[in-house]
Amino acid sequence: MSKYIPIQKAIAKGSGNVNIHGWVHRERGSNALKFVVLKDSSNLIQCVFERGKFESQWSEIDKLQVEAALEITGTLKKDERAPTGYEITVESFKIVGTSENFPIAKDQSVEFLADNRHLWLRSRKMTAILKIRDTIFTAIHEYFHKQGFYEYHSPIFQAVQCEGGSELFSVNYFDKKDVFLSQSWQLYAEPAIFALEKIYTIAPSFRAEKSKTSRHLTEYWHAEMEMAWSQFKDIYGHGEKLLKHVVKRVLERNLPELAILERDPKKLEPTLQKPFVKMTYTEALKILKEKCGMEVEWGKDLRTIEEEKLTQLYDVPIICTHYPKKVKAFYMMEDPKNPETVQGCDFLAPEGHGEIIGGSQREHDLEKIKARLRLQGEDPAQYEFYLDTRKYGSVPHGGFGLGVERIVKWICGLESIKDAIPFPRTMERYKP
Ligand code: ATP
Ligand code: MG
Repeated sequence: MSKYIPIQKAIAKGSGNVNIHGWVHRERGSNALKFVVLKDSSNLIQCVFERGKFESQWSEIDKLQVEAALEITGTLKKDERAPTGYEITVESFKIVGTSENFPIAKDQSVEFLADNRHLWLRSRKMTAILKIRDTIFTAIHEYFHKQGFYEYHSPIFQAVQCEGGSELFSVNYFDKKDVFLSQSWQLYAEPAIFALEKIYTIAPSFRAEKSKTSRHLTEYWHAEMEMAWSQFKDIYGHGEKLLKHVVKRVLERNLPELAILERDPKKLEPTLQKPFVKMTYTEALKILKEKCGMEVEWGKDLRTIEEEKLTQLYDVPIICTHYPKKVKAFYMMEDPKNPETVQGCDFLAPEGHGEIIGGSQREHDLEKIKARLRLQGEDPAQYEFYLDTRKYGSVPHGGFGLGVERIVKWICGLESIKDAIPFPRTMERYKP
């Protein structure tokens, strides 16, 4: 076992001899003393080098710069003036990796930080976001396993499209022309509900998004679920319970990280405490008109700006249902009461964050789904394997997809989705 303990553990110990290792977060020095704030993945602590103890090594100590890696043995004591309330008087140390002129300093431009993303990941902000991201992934796995879902995996190379052709990335697959990167697992998930009934995944999805928005990436992590024997209300019921579980876990585990991000946890509490707001698309148009002065023609999809205005009215997510059939995918089931609309739902996060989940009850009748495909200009013959799901023991079923970075953006209160993933990919940004 390593003799080194996390800085957070050292702080919890409160006093005495400790061994820690980490990287220089800040440093300043005088002729007689050098102060180094050391960080590791757990926290920061101030360490003091006294010249009297290290005369022969003083030039090395004096030269220590931001991001140098150190092992330190020393004596810990409380010190109100230190950044995390404790200080270590260094007794012995080893410089494991030197660092010179670390490029990232205060107040650098967004572009500069994006070019140096590999280094910016070490910042306190990114470290906090990455920890919350970890909690969210873990919570999604926990939720689905607790609810009796199996984790299942679909291919990333796919030969059929699910969410519309214009956003497909084609791949040079041994010179074949009809291979694309997955936009969703759905067409490959539905065949598996006949084996496992309740399944979920967290996997990358790819969309050739040409628009520059604060919530679209070209590569994002997609948590998707599909279940047999469902009714529409089961689908959005799981969406609501899943989001509550995720927020609960973040509030249990990540208050220090939310504080680093200056994200007020009180803004997330209503999501735990209150039922989500449920409205139909038609009701949403009415509210947009009456409360936001925005007129949307029935039949048009809600745009980002409309979602933003609508969600600013609430402190919990909105479950918006029964969108017009013509703006939604071919597999969404018509509403028997109004066949111009579908049993589909979008979850819209509060405070202007917008869509985080899209889901639906699926059309399970073979002839109806073929007709919907033709209506969208598709050739049902291309979907032969998929249509077998409606031939051999078809059952009512449904599912949803959740953009994990959208959840990270909302929970962390980020301006842009780009900070919700370590190396964001957009139309313009694919390096480093
Ligand atoms: P939007 O209207 O925001 O483009 P969509 O209707 O295309 O979303 P779906 O096809 O329903 O989205 O995908 C399911 C979920 O995947 C969305 O609710 C969202 O959380 C997430 N998502 C979709 N596209 C992206 C993207 N480009 N980047 C990040 N997340 C995305
Ligand atoms: Mg889209």
